[in-house]
Amino acid sequence: MTPVSQALRRYRQTKIVATLGPASSEKKTIRALFDAGADVFRLNFSHGTHEDHRARLALIREIERETGRPIPVLGDLQGPKLRVGTFAKGAIDIHKGQAFRFDLDPAAGDEGRVSLPHPEIFAALQEGSELLCDDGKVRLRVVKCGKDFAETTVLAGQKLSDRKGVNVPDVVLPLSPLTAKDLADLAVALDAGVDWVALSFVQRAEDIAEARALIGNRAAVLAKLEKPAAVKNLLSILELADGIMVARGDLGVEMPPEDVPRIQKYIVREARSAGKPVIVATQMLESMISAPTPTRAEASDVATAVYDGADAIMLSAESASGQYPVEAVEMMSRIASHTQNDLGYHTGLVAQHQPLLNTAADAITAAAKQVAETIGAVAIATYTTTGSTTLRAARERPEIPILCLTSKIETARRLTLSFGVHAVHTSDIHDFSEMVDKATLIASRDGVARQGESIVVTAGVPFGRAGSTNALRIAVVAE
Ligand code: PGA
Ligand code: MN
Repeated sequence: MTPVSQALRRYRQTKIVATLGPASSEKKTIRALFDAGADVFRLNFSHGTHEDHRARLALIREIERETGRPIPVLGDLQGPKLRVGTFAKGAIDIHKGQAFRFDLDPAAGDEGRVSLPHPEIFAALQEGSELLCDDGKVRLRVVKCGKDFAETTVLAGQKLSDRKGVNVPDVVLPLSPLTAKDLADLAVALDAGVDWVALSFVQRAEDIAEARALIGNRAAVLAKLEKPAAVKNLLSILELADGIMVARGDLGVEMPPEDVPRIQKYIVREARSAGKPVIVATQMLESMISAPTPTRAEASDVATAVYDGADAIMLSAESASGQYPVEAVEMMSRIASHTQNDLGYHTGLVAQHQPLLNTAADAITAAAKQVAETIGAVAIATYTTTGSTTLRAARERPEIPILCLTSKIETARRLTLSFGVHAVHTSDIHDFSEMVDKATLIASRDGVARQGESIVVTAGVPFGRAGSTNALRIAVVAE
């Protein structure tokens, strides 16, 4: 790894998730994204073939071997994205006030009707429910419905065309978050070895339980918050999920855009409080899809997520299919680094700090931050098996880097998504002197601490047993 990228990782606490796609499929581009500051790569199963995703994942693993840095991969499943059927003429004109019908008849649609091949929707609709088509550009209200049809009045819109998406915001649909396509994609994702699986259009905690039953501990599970029902059920979803995404694209269709900022802050706050990583996603640097610099509003949006203490910020089309994928990562990294250097940044994070749980891990990790501040230590090193101690340390949002030292590569990769964590895959320790020696060696090797500087180290005694963090040592990097 070049000194530049190591320095970026050392000083930038907010992580960057970059989506791969046609604009970023070659190894040299993926490597350039990594060197520019991408910490996590996202494979979006809504687009591309299984072969595309397998090939990209294999390239990421090569880069991981070459750089010696754990690189997490997030496999994002499309979920139950609902769509209308097709029209005889490909598209129709539609206008406010007219009647329009949805039904299960597969025949091509016309000016008065179209197929909506999802019986579950008709079962859940009620008179007065609203349907949104094409990212909310067409809005319709149900006036009458049965088990295989819905008569509606058009509230807004001009045009509807083949296979456009349909959102039903105010209804909890009896849909599994995993469609037949998702199950096939999930099998490929797990077989290829993704570290995180993202579930789209989650509605309730049971959706996470259903996915977890299939995934087991082969990957961590991330819930995408993009439906009003999910926002309502956030706390129970947070209990079962390993991480959260504020998926502002669909969220801004399902809910009025003016409510998205306040909901984003609410989700970030609750995820931080639960100690689970949270990603803020979609349209962060949207104009960089086709321009080499962002708008001022976009720069401000990225900074807002950083000030809120999000664990990660995400690029979608900017890095997957845009003209400036590497520039977008560089820009995002610069905005995050510069924001973090603002004096008000840490004060803000501390002000939002939530009470501790009465556990040994919370006592030790909170003490580690306090001790580090008191003596001016330059890093906190956490020995961990499952990653849970490192997660609690990240929840403290310390000003200095958190080393996650683990003998499990899966843990090192998963924790790389979290705020301020520099994960290192290493062997288990057996005694106190090894605990100190290894942590100081790695801290100095990775440029986190220099000779004579102190770090604070946490571990569990007896050593090498999961879930036992109970020890704290101050260690000085040897001369
Ligand atoms: P998507 O999810 O890109 O898979 O739609 C993110 C979002 O909706 O914001
Ligand atoms: Mn979405």
